[in-house]
Amino acid sequence: MSSLGLAQDKFEGGAFHPQLPGGRASGTLLVSVAGIRFESPHGAIVFPLSNLQLEMGGAGDRMCFFKHPQFPGCSLFTTDKAILKHPALAHDRAVSAQRSQWGRRRFFAVAAAVLLVLAIPMALWLAKDPAAGLVARNIPVDWEVKLGETVFEQVTNRARVVTAPELNAEFSRLVQPLFAATGTTRYQFQVHIVEDLSLNAFALPGGIMVVHSGLILKADRAEEVLGVMGHELAHVTQQHSLRAIVQRVGLIVMLQFLIGSDGGLAGVIANSADFLLGQKFSRDHEREADNIGFDYLVKAGIDPQGLITFFEKIQKEQDAKLGGAAEVEASLSFLSTHPGTDERIAHLRKRIAKETKGRTFQPVAQDFKSFQDRLRQQLGTK
Ligand SMILES: [Zn+2]
Repeated sequence: MSSLGLAQDKFEGGAFHPQLPGGRASGTLLVSVAGIRFESPHGAIVFPLSNLQLEMGGAGDRMCFFKHPQFPGCSLFTTDKAILKHPALAHDRAVSAQRSQWGRRRFFAVAAAVLLVLAIPMALWLAKDPAAGLVARNIPVDWEVKLGETVFEQVTNRARVVTAPELNAEFSRLVQPLFAATGTTRYQFQVHIVEDLSLNAFALPGGIMVVHSGLILKADRAEEVLGVMGHELAHVTQQHSLRAIVQRVGLIVMLQFLIGSDGGLAGVIANSADFLLGQKFSRDHEREADNIGFDYLVKAGIDPQGLITFFEKIQKEQDAKLGGAAEVEASLSFLSTHPGTDERIAHLRKRIAKETKGRTFQPVAQDFKSFQDRLRQQLGTK
């Protein structure tokens, strides 16, 4: 028996054979140019190399099985894959063809496993916002309203709300065309002016919108304030706060809710006031609010240019305050830093050029300057 000068030509293994006690025996596989010889205390058998068949099997294809047409019902096996590197086998055409087939199979199995591991989280991740949107649309409106009221209560604990009825009524009248432009009957929109000199406004779930007195007083035209209100209104109608809350509960709770059992979502929503107070909308939700807010403005016949001039105002203010470099981190804020104000202005400009070409917008009729004066007076007298 030739050893081909190789260090290893003996491999631990076994054989299945109907004549062996129990049908199998352990032993040694000896590889040579003559074939594979199996030796055990029960006897020996030689599988010639020609017509030798190789199969991989067992858990994770860890075992090599050899079969031969001359010995039907009999197979030799080893877990020592080094056997395949033995020159007598490595150069055998049939064996190497089967090895490469096995290699391809293994490659596809690994590729499929990797794909599965990557694809499932990716699919879930991609599905998360649409899934949250679907859940949010099915949430009873009073859950939303209740949450909005809870947050508003916390806001009013920290800031003073303008209570002068005629000012509130006038401001509501100013925003009314935007409310109508949403075309939704789900919400009873209400808007509150809070005494705060910063340029800010925000929307709460359920239809409550808050605008800082500073934003109204610094505006040059009503259209600027209305531009911001259109954006905030879109956050309400697109349920961005609710969607952000729902995304945090995970797909299991979402699924439970959608198939009819609450799954604890009511409790999560009821307890999300603190989360909302510290929350910032995602980049996608801000873009969506810009776009849908723009639609509302155009539909209501309000010049959307106001939103742009107001963005520019905000930008100037930020540059002056922060040297233009720092980021404004404000929660519940219109002044989101993402997407950047430049990008938002550029996008709105494009839409104006494309969609309102040749259209002239009538100025908002209400005497905005006089409203500002009276608001200023109201704040000054306190
Ligand atoms: Zn926003």
